[in-house]
Parts: sequence; structure tokens; C-alpha cells
Amino acid sequence: MSEQRILIVEDERAVARGLEYGLREAGFTVFWAATGKQAYQLVLSSAPHLVLLDIRLPDMSGFDLCRQLRSEGRRLPILIVTARDEEVDKILGLELGADDYVVKPYSLREVISRIRALLRRAYGELSAAAPDQPLHFGPFTIDVDRLQLTRDGRPIDLTPMEFRLLRHLALHAERPCSRDSLIEAVWGYDSDIGNDRTVDVHIRHLRTKLEDDPATPRWLVTVRGAGYMLTVR
Ligand code: CA
Repeated sequence: MSEQRILIVEDERAVARGLEYGLREAGFTVFWAATGKQAYQLVLSSAPHLVLLDIRLPDMSGFDLCRQLRSEGRRLPILIVTARDEEVDKILGLELGADDYVVKPYSLREVISRIRALLRRAYGELSAAAPDQPLHFGPFTIDVDRLQLTRDGRPIDLTPMEFRLLRHLALHAERPCSRDSLIEAVWGYDSDIGNDRTVDVHIRHLRTKLEDDPATPRWLVTVRGAGYMLTVR
């Protein structure tokens, strides 16, 4: 990513300014919203790569905003900022679709390292070799910048894992990807979750979302003894 846009949602001006300054120093492009409503507008107009979201906002709770964004199929990473430990149970329990949280008081360094980790996990190591321009194949477009897959312009609902899997296959289109390489790309080296079976399950789910006939895939094919391949021609 050439530019990493972070949206800070925080109603306390002093806190927001501190964050804004620190994140700019760290090289991020920063937007600030003081209310949930402003935040939602900025998500639409500025397409941030990540939202740093305070729970207690004047017009709605951060929980509601998080839920709203997810219900619209927006997959951007959300890092929740909470003032109290008790709220952590709620964050974890409600399955809001938040990616991580930090408890106040936090250090700027901690926030930045969480942000970097989330961006890496969500968007991968995008560099000049893998530009953040949309990838096209058949009727599909993978918008890496917005974490969205569309078919003839209509969004297809993918989980973050499915998206990362598809993006990796697309970046290596017409070449077979081994299950090991997919595990590494999607779950990372140190994952306990990623194994051959998990890959197969996610591929199956992806096929039901992409293929007209998932049993005889046109796009996401199995290469015997090698793994999976995305055909784009
Ligand atoms: Ca607040």
C-alpha cells in the first residue's frame, strides 16, 4: 500500500490529537471523527484501511458502529479502544467483528504496533510488486484496497480468511499454489488454525460463492499433487 489511511474515532479532542500526531509521525495518513455519524461518513468518503474506534461516543456506541459496518459487508480492520476491562468481555462476546482491542490507558507504541499487525494481516505484504490496484478475472474484481470482491459490480460476501486466500491465489494466478504456501499467506507461520484441512474447507466455501457449479469449478481449480490454482483466462 502506498498510503495507509487510518480513521480515528474519538470524541475527546485531546486524546484524538495525541493519536493523530503519533500516527502521522509513524507515516500514516490520518482522519479524525468525533462522532459515530461523522465516522460513518468518513468511512464512505475516505475509504480508510483501518478504524481505531472508541467505544464511548456521544451519538452512538462504538459497538453499534462496528456492527453497522460489518452488516454492510465492510471488512476493514477495526481496532477497538475501550476504557475499561469489563468491556473487553463484551467485545469478545458479542462477535461484533472487531479485529482487536486496546484498553485505556495504552501507549502510543502499543497502538501503532497493533495497527501495523492488523494491516499486515488484512492486506498482506503489499509492495510495488503487488500494487493495490484492483485485480480482475472473468466477471470478478478483487479490490485489495477495500477488501472487497465483486461480480459484475455486485459485492460478494467473503470472510476475511476467504478474502486473503483468494487474493493470494489471484496474485499467483495461473500458477498452482501449494496448501503450505496458502497456509503461510493466509494464517502466517505461527498459526495453530491453518492446516491442509482448513485450506480445503475455505476453498470449498469460496467455490460455492464464486462458481456457477462448485462441483466442476471454472475458476478455482484443483491441481493434482500441487494444490489449488486460480485460472483467469
Ligand atoms: Ca469517548
